[in-house]
Amino acid sequence: MKPCTVGKRHSWTFVRNVVTSHMNGRFGRITKRGIYRCECGAAKYGNHVHQAEGCAQ
Ligand SMILES: [Zn+2]
Repeated sequence: MKPCTVGKRHSWTFVRNVVTSHMNGRFGRITKRGIYRCECGAAKYGNHVHQAEGCAQ
């Protein structure tokens, strides 16, 4: 990861969730991750953010 160009450290802002599915024969596995972006343009994958209605998280 490159150092941040707009600050001492990257300040990650949650952008959206992504769902990736891996198919393996009859079995599928789904990975939920969140995309985070910094003002400098860097992006990373992080924890999936629960966005259900009524959830205060
Ligand atoms: Zn940055």
